Amino acid sequence: MSAPVKAGGGGVDFESELRQIGEELAASFPGASRQPLKALDARAMEMASSDRELRAALFRFVDVVPACRSLDDLARHLIGFLEEVPETPPPLSVAIKMSGTRAGRAALGAAAAGGVRHLAHRFIVGETPTAALGTLRKLWERGVASSVDLLGEATVTESEADRYAARCLEAIEQLSVATRDWPAREMLETDGIGPLPRANVCVKVTALTPLLRPDAPERGQRDAARRLRPLLRAAQSSGAHLHIDMESMDSREAVLDLVLDLLDEEEFRGGPSAGLVLQAYLRDSPQQARRVIAWARETPREPPLTVRLVKGAYWDHELVQARQHGWDVPVFEDKRDCDRNFEALTRELLAARPALRVAVASHNLRSVAHAIACNRASGGDDRDLELQVLRGLGDELQHALAVRGYRVRTYCPVGDLVAGMAYLVRRLLENTSNESFLSEQARGVPVEQLLAAP
Ligand SMILES: Cc1cc2nc3c(=O)[nH]c(=O)nc-3n(C[C@H](O)[C@H](O)[C@H](O)COP(=O)(O)OP(=O)(O)OC[C@H]3O[C@@H](n4cnc5c(N)ncnc54)[C@H](O)[C@@H]3O)c2cc1C
Repeated sequence: MSAPVKAGGGGVDFESELRQIGEELAASFPGASRQPLKALDARAMEMASSDRELRAALFRFVDVVPACRSLDDLARHLIGFLEEVPETPPPLSVAIKMSGTRAGRAALGAAAAGGVRHLAHRFIVGETPTAALGTLRKLWERGVASSVDLLGEATVTESEADRYAARCLEAIEQLSVATRDWPAREMLETDGIGPLPRANVCVKVTALTPLLRPDAPERGQRDAARRLRPLLRAAQSSGAHLHIDMESMDSREAVLDLVLDLLDEEEFRGGPSAGLVLQAYLRDSPQQARRVIAWARETPREPPLTVRLVKGAYWDHELVQARQHGWDVPVFEDKRDCDRNFEALTRELLAARPALRVAVASHNLRSVAHAIACNRASGGDDRDLELQVLRGLGDELQHALAVRGYRVRTYCPVGDLVAGMAYLVRRLLENTSNESFLSEQARGVPVEQLLAAP
């Protein structure tokens, strides 16, 4: 087990600058409402946060969603998992009874789909990149850049991986063309290092291959690489940015090695603009950060690698998986350790510029204000730091950041509802955890407390 992370980097002046930034941002949240969680259905939120068994069933459900072929299939799996919850809340018991027949399952599937559609519209910008273009342009006009995430998680067949790769390719091409006539937005288009692409697409390596196994990663890496290269080529020729998301520990090493190896290939040394993700909830993330920074210094790229710093979306999964197998838990178990580590990594990454670009992705006002204050303290201009939020959860922070003249990018999922379900449930579970910043904010914790050092 690693030692708890120490706070640091601060000083009285630094903390008061940070507090001022945070308070100004909080004051710029739109309207009377300062509760991003209102975006989530209140009942679903309450149920998911109060019932541990229900949360566990939903987690298991998320794992099988990508394999569901239809709403009927989706409903059957959902009911199967909910039946395992010992005390089912009343609306769910009714649902379980309905699932006894094919007609019932179809009706339930349709009802579930209706509920999902309602939620989905807040989180997912469209079923296809073309359908999303109107929203993306409006964001841009309001001073917000975007990153398009084609929904699709762990792929089980080669043809699914091919389809996902084809969708990514199409998104890169369509966005590159469509964004050309967007109006100029100086803040979003250049930083101290150089120009920033308008078109920005995220991909998941586990959706690019069905063959990635933690115990024998090479085959999966080779298979993913043959689908990732054409995406890098397309991004390079159309001037788009390609970002590779990070998933659970099972694939972390394989993804990191794959991305660094590919970007080191002769044809990709001069581009495209590309990035990867560092997860601060992992105890070994400081070593990973040092590895990436050393790589960036030894492998100069034009434009440099972008590192998105996140806390990590698979906290419960990592904890449960490690405990089940009797492994050391790879994630911090005290939220404050994770937050302190996030701040330490923010400082390290910012200090590694211009070998890399830094994007800090968080809805936590303290984490965000800390990054802005660090950037300024290290002599950076506000446009030298990218701040990223998730569509639906970070809308109010996104607005405040844009209004106050910071460089903000919103991560916009695009895709169909079956694929969207896993994404939605994960966001729901993550943000209904008591320790989540958004829950604290929704519970009315005062801004001074929200901005206190972890
Ligand atoms: C634009 C964007 C892109 C993202 N891309 C990715 C990605 O590629 N891969 C990925 O994994 N995640 C990604 N995320 C999700 C991210 O990792 C976080 O899950 C999410 O942003 C919540 O963190 P926060 O700082 O906003 O909120 P906070 O409420 O401050 O932090 C919540 C996070 O703290 C951690 N945590 C919760 N409880 C504990 C505990 N007891 N001990 C230790 N740590 C705990 C978890 O990571 C949890 O998600 C992305 C987020 C954004 C905004």
